[in-house]
Amino acid sequence: MTIRNGFKDECGVFGVFDAEDAARLAYLGLYALQHRGQESAGIATLDSQVIRFEREMGYVADVFTEARLERLPGRTAIGHVRYSTTGASLLINAQPIVFATGRGPLALAHNGNLVNARDIRATLEASGALFTTTSDSEVILHLIARSRAPTLVGAIAEALTEVRGAYSILILSREGIFAARDPNGIRPLSLGIREGSPVVASETCAFDLIEARFERDVEPGEIVRLSSEGFTSHRFAFPQATPCVFEHVYFARPDSNVFGRNVASVREAFGARLAREHPAAADVVIPVPDSGMYAALGYARESGIPFAMGLVRNHYVGRTFIEPKQSIRHFGVKVKLNPVREVVSGKRIVMVDDSLVRGTTSRKIVKMLRDAGTKEVHVRISSPPTMNSCHYGIDTPTKGELIAANRPLEGIREFIGADSLGYLSPEGMLEAFGRPSQAACTACFTGVYPVDIDQPEREKESAISS
Ligand code: AMP
Repeated sequence: MTIRNGFKDECGVFGVFDAEDAARLAYLGLYALQHRGQESAGIATLDSQVIRFEREMGYVADVFTEARLERLPGRTAIGHVRYSTTGASLLINAQPIVFATGRGPLALAHNGNLVNARDIRATLEASGALFTTTSDSEVILHLIARSRAPTLVGAIAEALTEVRGAYSILILSREGIFAARDPNGIRPLSLGIREGSPVVASETCAFDLIEARFERDVEPGEIVRLSSEGFTSHRFAFPQATPCVFEHVYFARPDSNVFGRNVASVREAFGARLAREHPAAADVVIPVPDSGMYAALGYARESGIPFAMGLVRNHYVGRTFIEPKQSIRHFGVKVKLNPVREVVSGKRIVMVDDSLVRGTTSRKIVKMLRDAGTKEVHVRISSPPTMNSCHYGIDTPTKGELIAANRPLEGIREFIGADSLGYLSPEGMLEAFGRPSQAACTACFTGVYPVDIDQPEREKESAISS
């Protein structure tokens, strides 16, 4: 069996303390965070000192039927959405992970990836620990359960000083919800208030849906307890903030405020800067929907070239589209995107997307545009070349599959069939992000990993065999 080692899981988390219909609020919160993970969804609630949970593979709306939500009584809840690219989709790795410990039941929801989980796990297993999942997140619960610290928050702090990597986590307990971010604050985590109840979410778009008011972000290296006392802060490590720039490039929702900045505005700034760095003589700027939308708006505004929707996206295509039989096969990207002939035919076009990964999507879109009569296609990418895998929780393929790691710029242009190709520079990206290079994680672009990846971990890449 091939199993994931937990390297590439994309996730979203949500929590609410002491509110009517907590499970339903968690359901809504996860609904707003669905873009962060589409493989499995789960909610755990605390009801009369007992933790109940429901987890299943699938979208939030499909997993949480009325009957399932009915089985989740209680006024405090945490939830999780997860996506992993492994061939083996494993229900056992769905979260929250629930554990009985000497400190009462605990449930954990984790976004991010730990880089030393294997070593910790091996040590724990050697001393008799039995793991119930293959995910890196479970080591945190084991470390908490084993800690001799007198308080639960002390045990959590102790556990978190042993793990390294990216983690925005929620722990549901009888003492409330503990929310924590790694000392680098690589993944987002925000606090809010809804009708007096403390809430926490990966992104602020979840607060908008449940009409909660944003309070502040959980700080890097901070544990915040959500309880009847509101938010209680506990520092467990010195902060060295290096938030992930790719949250702003692609991953987060444009209506969220992430690391103190609105995502749509930052994407527009990327696009404007891209227009200055790589101008083009063209008639129209079109985005690749939805990922290139805001950068294309920024590009159009800065360049003065009119913006138009030259590609239409079918929003009902999931990640699990099944290709029909041989005779009508290879629709590829056509299933998802279709050009508007009236907009693109006979035109010189600037096509803006957020990133090239393997390059296959752009290649197909450029061909589609040419088939629809486009005169010239100038591809502009609102981030630098993606050269390295992410080890902190974004699903990027291995280096061998990343087109920019294997071909020079001209080779990429040729592969995608564009008339010209321009990427945003790392300096331009950081300027628009508003952070110096030492205060951001840009590993996928620059290869500078702010949290050390052990060499063997790098080599192990995405999958292990057992
Ligand atoms: P590719 O065909 O491999 O070059 O994919 C490029 C497309 O994938 C772009 O439109 C990106 O918006 C999108 N993309 C980039 N990163 C991710 C990711 N982690 N998960 C899913 N899609 C992504």
